[in-house]
Amino acid sequence: MRKIALEEHFTTAGLDAYSLRMPFTGTPGRAGEADSGAQIRRRLADFDELRLGAMDGAGIDVAVLSAASPGVQAEPDARTAVRRALAANDVLADVVAKHPTRYAGFAHLPLQDVDAATDELERCVCELGFKGALINGHSHGEYLDEPKFYPFWERVEDLDVPVYLHPADPFDMPRMYEGHPELLGALWSWTVETATHALRLVLGGTFDRFPSVRLILGHMGETLPYLLWRLDSRSRMHAQGARAGARPPSQIIRENIAITTAGVCAHESLLCALSALGEDNVMFSVDYPYESSDVAAEFIETAPVSEVVRAKVCHGNAERMLHLRGEEPRVAQVA
Ligand code: ZN
Repeated sequence: MRKIALEEHFTTAGLDAYSLRMPFTGTPGRAGEADSGAQIRRRLADFDELRLGAMDGAGIDVAVLSAASPGVQAEPDARTAVRRALAANDVLADVVAKHPTRYAGFAHLPLQDVDAATDELERCVCELGFKGALINGHSHGEYLDEPKFYPFWERVEDLDVPVYLHPADPFDMPRMYEGHPELLGALWSWTVETATHALRLVLGGTFDRFPSVRLILGHMGETLPYLLWRLDSRSRMHAQGARAGARPPSQIIRENIAITTAGVCAHESLLCALSALGEDNVMFSVDYPYESSDVAAEFIETAPVSEVVRAKVCHGNAERMLHLRGEEPRVAQVA
């Protein structure tokens, strides 16, 4: 089955300083051993043998590449963020040009400077051929529902490209995590951070103001598919006029948010997501190199869904949402 993966990360010399802050623990693959930090770093910086080898081995045809978290989102100086984001996008454009049938790109955006980030999104889409943007959470403490970002969302609508909201550490570390470093990062705190950021957009009116924006969440929707009924029920108690007549959260999430399977290779979670959001809103991904391409591929190939649904999740929904051509040649079959 043709597979397109959307949450697949890289780093460059200019972005290394940010990504080195993140924990580097991979997921055990079929061989059972998790990649070491050094191996993860090698894979993040590689665009040839290691990455294409992992894709070929797992039968992944196309990877949409994005800068590893947090990237320039963590940069306190706006001018530095702009300079480094533009340089990373130029590197990615060269990589995609070298492997046009295997890679596509998501823009890395310095949202500390909204005008610069908005113009850079347009450059990336219109000149470099990127398929949207991936944003690593808040930009040095600023969240995308704030009115200062309205011009950005307006341009996103005009360009008709999706924005992938990817996890990062919270700006302020809540006291509830003190003494429990195991709760930080991918195990739990990123889920809370990213789901909350998405709900700020849902409940804060961003999708009412910009109704054709499509947001993508990884990690099977960061728990939101599981909570739609409760979000509707409790939001009615808070609405009291402020959002009178507005769509309930579940409707906004179904209409404006799509999700990927990145980093959650569990059939029960997939079935919940498909049931809650519909078969047009769930897309396959790996979260390379932090997760195993082999495990992700086996998970989707063995999922208890119809072949029609599997095709939508593996490639059809991504082709539609990212305006990808569906005719790229298949990867070589690996024995
Ligand atoms: Zn990721």
